[in-house]
Amino acid sequence: MSLLEQLNQQQLEAVTCVDRHLRIIAGAGSGKTRVVTTRIAYLIEQCHIYPNKILAITFTNKAAREMKERVEGFLGDTAQAVMISTIHSFCVRLLREDILVHGYPRNFTILDADDQRSILRDAYKQLQVDVKTYSYHRVLSYISNNKTNFIDANSALARANYEGERIMANVYAFYEKRLAEMFGLDFDDLLIFTYHILKEHVEVRKKWQRRFAYLHVDEFQDVDMLQYQIIKMLVKEDSYLCVVGDPDQTIYTWRGAQVDIIMNFEKDFPHSHTVILNENYRSTQPILQASNELIKNNRNRIEKELFTRNESDERIVHFTAMDDYNEPIWVAGKILSLHHNGVKYRDIAVLYRSNYLSRGLEKALLDQHIPYRIYGGVRFYDRAEIKDALSYLRLLAPKVEGDDKELFKNLAVKRIINLPKRGIGAKTLETLEQEAAVKDTNMYEILKQGGFGKGKAKESIAKFVEVIEASRSCVDTISIDQLLSKVLEDSGYMEMLRNDAEIERLENLKELISDIANYVENNPDGSLLDYLQEISLYSDKEDLDNGEFVQLMTIHAAKGLEFDRVFVYSLCDGIFPNERSINEGGQQALEEERRLAYVAFTRAKKQLFLSDSYGYSYVLDKLKTTSRFVKEIPQDCLQEVGAKPRNSFASDVDTYQGSGFSSLGNTTDEAIEHTSKKKGKIRKGDLVVHDVFGEGIVIKLEGELAVIAFDKKYGIRKILATHASLHKK
Ligand code: ATP
Ligand code: MG
Repeated sequence: MSLLEQLNQQQLEAVTCVDRHLRIIAGAGSGKTRVVTTRIAYLIEQCHIYPNKILAITFTNKAAREMKERVEGFLGDTAQAVMISTIHSFCVRLLREDILVHGYPRNFTILDADDQRSILRDAYKQLQVDVKTYSYHRVLSYISNNKTNFIDANSALARANYEGERIMANVYAFYEKRLAEMFGLDFDDLLIFTYHILKEHVEVRKKWQRRFAYLHVDEFQDVDMLQYQIIKMLVKEDSYLCVVGDPDQTIYTWRGAQVDIIMNFEKDFPHSHTVILNENYRSTQPILQASNELIKNNRNRIEKELFTRNESDERIVHFTAMDDYNEPIWVAGKILSLHHNGVKYRDIAVLYRSNYLSRGLEKALLDQHIPYRIYGGVRFYDRAEIKDALSYLRLLAPKVEGDDKELFKNLAVKRIINLPKRGIGAKTLETLEQEAAVKDTNMYEILKQGGFGKGKAKESIAKFVEVIEASRSCVDTISIDQLLSKVLEDSGYMEMLRNDAEIERLENLKELISDIANYVENNPDGSLLDYLQEISLYSDKEDLDNGEFVQLMTIHAAKGLEFDRVFVYSLCDGIFPNERSINEGGQQALEEERRLAYVAFTRAKKQLFLSDSYGYSYVLDKLKTTSRFVKEIPQDCLQEVGAKPRNSFASDVDTYQGSGFSSLGNTTDEAIEHTSKKKGKIRKGDLVVHDVFGEGIVIKLEGELAVIAFDKKYGIRKILATHASLHKK
């Protein structure tokens, strides 16, 4: 059977082990995710398990989408019935069905970060708390920490040791009360409520247990205790749990992930079977060898050795630029030359430790006209939810003289008619498009005339038109941002995202709305059409998009993904590994950074490029050196190019002093330490979070001020280092 033919012996064993709990532990690229998807197909096709009896939990929405696609590849439409989702989306589903037992209505509200802040704002007002002393970020993490450890507001108050804690506990109490009044759940609550319901309501637990015969959890090494408790409660005596993970890729311990959970799996699930996969199918020999050698430097790990049969002469290229201006230029140049040699842009990824690092890269790529996309980041008008929102707006646009047909509305209709799901099938859409063409008008006009479609589809089309028309009648009376909020709420689009816990998408939409509010402010006479026209300058370009772009992302976002050619950018000590892991975090923090490097290197299939730069770093406020992670790679895997061979930095300092860096001659590490210590907690090189500007990195300290590089939008800012809105990450 072709399904199983493509597997090696261990993979086959894992796929066909269907009568016991199963743990698959294996290094990167060994086919863990592939085993899960194949196993799902095998269960359905060979063991005749109903698809809806199978659950698979993954780590991110993107991973869930990819897993669904892979299963669809095997099974076609049958795959639809398999439940593949993140743990948060799963909890939302469970709660929508069963939250009643907890005294909450099914249409509970899911709160996002903005909602949380607005509750805190009220709390601060009422309790007279000063936001300068108690920043939202700090109090929200305080609340989250307590909640996920099952410490309620009363207990938190009882435990409070000093005035500040008492104040935060009071805010916590206010926050919880407000949430309860509005039947609101924050993201922690999704897990906590699910946990309580499953634990305390046997009938609900049994119902959900009965629902699944086979449960799978991918990326199990990054599961935290609360998530694990929920998963455990879903397993009944005769259902089977399959967990898949790689302890060397645990990169979320800072958020509570516990690698012990996968290591001790057998204690909770005796008689379970463990399969170890040791052949890597993703990467070439030099890439794999380098990754293996790198991760061996972690002391706190279980030895395992992956091998590959993908021989290659292509060594890992390591480039050190003279300074950080030239590093991204080299990357861009290399990408161009790869592209000229036939490599598709989409098969190239550039990975970095922190978001702020993309700035230099973006500039170099733009200069070279290399199309790129930042995954989880800046390329705003590219994102699906933004296009969806703009499509809704397009439907609201009034007719322009001379454009009676308004055919541009066809695209908009096609894009959003089923967002949220309205049960309008491909066939119906096809008929609609034909009818519009025959009648020489656009699809929305046909819908508006009424009576289109059959049965349920007909009903939901009528509702859809009603929503659009209601908003349309407000075009002249409310502002464009209000209009967009209205149509996205009324249409159920926002609710759809909230239900799926699509935090990032919701944030993007909020950003779009605030962007439009800005536009309205600056163009008081601007009409909806004017706005759409202006925006089309950005989005039209994207419409031509053929998927040909280089992908930029943080390493955390690259988890589980693979690319032909991977660049890991800015591998300087202090940046990656970050300063804190070197100076304060101890062995554990450094080992987590190393695991992150292991994740980064093992994303590459064919070629891996590592880059760093010498010269003075504003971020570190000192001369840079190549990351220790590069030095941990065996010499024979590496091809050194660029400024100078590694490890030769010390003898080259003169060169730098002679080339404009002489003023730095007496900047010793010791001096830097000294000054930064005097400034209290925040130090150069620290990753910080500001309540308004978000994540940033401390470039240097000037007196009481910290000079911080934030995301592009906010740029470099000077902020009082002791300011309450500022926190170390
Ligand atoms: P990660 O730890 O990064 O999540 P993984 O262990 O989940 O990696 P997969 O993504 O499942 O690995 O597989 C890595 C690559 O190897 C994929 O392209 C997959 O299709 C391929 N692969 C896995 N097993 C085989 C096999 N037996 N034959 C051919 N290709 C395989
Ligand atoms: Mg995987």
